[in-house]
Amino acid sequence: MQSSKHNILTAVPGSDRWLLVNLLSGQADLLGREDAEALQRGTPRNPDELAAKGYLVDADEEARRYDKAHRDFVAGHVTDEVQLFYVPSYVCNFGCSYCFQDEYAPAQGANADVVLEAFFAYVDDVFADRKKYVTLFGGEPLLGTPAARHIVERMVIGTRTRGLDLAIVTNGYHLASYVPLLQTGRIREVQVTLDGSRAMHDKRRSLKGGGKTFDPVVAGIDACLAAGISVNLRTVVDKENLEDFAQLAHFAIDKGWTEHALFKTQIGRNYELHHCQTANSRLYTRLSLWEDLAKLIDRDPEVLRFYRPAFSVSKFLFDEGRLPDPLFDSCPATKTEWAFDSTGTIYPCTANVGKSGEAIGTFFPSRSLNQGAVDEWSGRDVTAISGCSTCSQQLACGGGCGAVSKNQAGTVRAPDCRPVKELLGLGCALYGKRELEPLSQGT
Ligand code: SF4
Ligand code: SF4
Repeated sequence: MQSSKHNILTAVPGSDRWLLVNLLSGQADLLGREDAEALQRGTPRNPDELAAKGYLVDADEEARRYDKAHRDFVAGHVTDEVQLFYVPSYVCNFGCSYCFQDEYAPAQGANADVVLEAFFAYVDDVFADRKKYVTLFGGEPLLGTPAARHIVERMVIGTRTRGLDLAIVTNGYHLASYVPLLQTGRIREVQVTLDGSRAMHDKRRSLKGGGKTFDPVVAGIDACLAAGISVNLRTVVDKENLEDFAQLAHFAIDKGWTEHALFKTQIGRNYELHHCQTANSRLYTRLSLWEDLAKLIDRDPEVLRFYRPAFSVSKFLFDEGRLPDPLFDSCPATKTEWAFDSTGTIYPCTANVGKSGEAIGTFFPSRSLNQGAVDEWSGRDVTAISGCSTCSQQLACGGGCGAVSKNQAGTVRAPDCRPVKELLGLGCALYGKRELEPLSQGT
């Protein structure tokens, strides 16, 4: 018997406990320091119990379980729902200080209605057998122009008549005025961004050429919730606005949003995907963002009513009392995500839509697909990335983001590492308090 390749053992900050997690066997335990150190040394103190839970294994038997779990994971893709992004235009009315799309804006193609019909025809044909929904993306799709409104109308009708849900990613400035139209469609959710309290948001997300945007966005969120449309509020975080995140949380709590069944939140880390930021020094790493957020929550636990960070699989573990299934792949590009734009071009996902050299096909005026590129993307998982093969964190990490890998290593099939151990430690300290206390008072 030997230690499982998939044991993740991490110290829990602020306690004398260690968290042991194994995504392949589906087990998680809190260990005392001596047990953890003995396991690390390869001289475990309670080998029978550890073997029963899959922490000590026969290597061949574990390899067989791994192969079966991988086959199950891949087979599951067939029934997964596909998210099809459509970009009607790259034009945006905001001049956000960190916008990654400001460097590329492909020229508009042919008549917008004709291209949109070609998109729907492509969806009808190519994704006929898949569960799917459409997401309207940009640029900013909900502009105040008649042309933008017309395309949203066509999109609402096109999805509704096909029985498809429509999601929308918007900056929210004109959202309130679109709500009556959206009420006629099958709207799954509207994702809208607020970057903090009024002053902070207005500083980071002004209109192009200047102009405040906080109040119109808030009015849009209120209008959606009043109309029964789900809102997914996103905050793009870096060092400039992390502290202010608590103010936004209290604003949302005071508005009653956090009690609304149709309201949820997410954080997007401002990062260096496509080009140098105007102020790269304000960017967080994958770990430092969550470390600082954990400290903020420690000072102001009310923030949790607004946003509960996943901290890798730890929120799931303590909320559900079990681990999620092994994650062999965390990048949905060309598996359950595709992106299309109004020039008739197809991209692997939203991270590269509109970016020169990243196209993988066309749906208008003629159809084509670079099958080699699609295979490269769709075959990406931790079994296809050599750097991931010996990583103990692989079934919690899934290999990260293919676009970041390509940007950093020149290939999609390279690791984009997550600080899984550290995140699990942070999450266990936050969500596992009840479990930790009796243990630390006991032995
Ligand atoms: S490349 Fe990155 S952004 Fe695109 S689908 Fe994969 S994980 Fe998401
Ligand atoms: S991307 Fe890095 S952390 Fe993630 S599985 Fe691969 S080697 Fe491990």
